[in-house]
Amino acid sequence: MKKTITPNGHKLTGVFCSIFGHHYVVSKQVTQHIKEYRCIHCQKRVTTNENGKLSVLTPQMQEINQTLEDMYQKRKRRHAGEVALPPQVA
Ligand SMILES: [Zn+2]
Repeated sequence: MKKTITPNGHKLTGVFCSIFGHHYVVSKQVTQHIKEYRCIHCQKRVTTNENGKLSVLTPQMQEINQTLEDMYQKRKRRHAGEVALPPQVA
């Protein structure tokens, strides 16, 4: 019986990435200019840094992105319409 070797998905994609480079897709839009990406082959995660270049998404970077996202969302909401403050009770 002939045995067909089924390549291990992860190992193959790892080799694939090292030869052809990662194939990143946007996994999260943080701000207008900052996005998080994930490689569809090996699941490696990167993010745009403050210089507009890609860097590895470390837990620290994730935290920074979360803060940036919060700020961005708040600013977007404020743009959409100023939230009226409740009248102050004297
Ligand atoms: Zn990859």
